[in-house]
Amino acid sequence: MALDSTEGSLKQRGVRLTRQRQILLELIDSTGAHLDVDQLYRMAKERDPKINRVTVYRTLKMLKAGGLVDELDLMHFGGDQHYYETRLKQEHAHVICLRCGRVEEFFGEPLQRLRKQIESHFGFQVLLARTEVGGYCAHCQTLRARDIDAMRPEAKPATKSPASGARERRAHARQE
Ligand SMILES: [Zn+2]
Ligand SMILES: [Zn+2]
Repeated sequence: MALDSTEGSLKQRGVRLTRQRQILLELIDSTGAHLDVDQLYRMAKERDPKINRVTVYRTLKMLKAGGLVDELDLMHFGGDQHYYETRLKQEHAHVICLRCGRVEEFFGEPLQRLRKQIESHFGFQVLLARTEVGGYCAHCQTLRARDIDAMRPEAKPATKSPASGARERRAHARQE
C-alpha cells in the first residue's frame, strides 16, 4: 500500500517508475535499513542482473529529489559514504557509535516537540529535520575504558624497557 502511494506521488511529479527504479525503491522501503550505494547495487543486481551503477545513482538522486528517500552521512563514520533510507518511516534521530559504527534509531515525541518549538520560535515551516547524535555505545564504553587503562604507563611496568626508562629520564631532565 505504501508503495502505491509512493508511485502515485511520483506520477503527480511526472516521473515514470521503470522496473529498475521500482526495484530500488522497493529495496529501500522494505529493508528499512541505511544502505549505501554498493549495498543497494548488489541487492538490486540479484533481482535484475542488467541493472548498472549509473541507474542506481540516477534513481537515488530522483527519489531523493522526490522526497521519497532520505540521504544520510551518519556523522561520516564510513568516510564520505552516504546512506539511503525510506521516508515512509516515522521521523527519528540516528544515534551513531563512533567506535564500532553501530546505528540506533530513536523515535519519539521529543523530536516532534523540537520541531514544533523551532516552528513557533522562528515562525519557520519545517519540511525536513535530520537529527544525528554521535558517541560511544555501552559495549564500546567498556572497551575504551580498558584501552585507556592499558595506555597508562604505570599499568604495565613489566613492559618498560631500559631504553624507554632512559628516554623518560631525559624528558624529566629537560623539564627541570
Ligand atoms: Zn560501539
Ligand atoms: Zn534511520
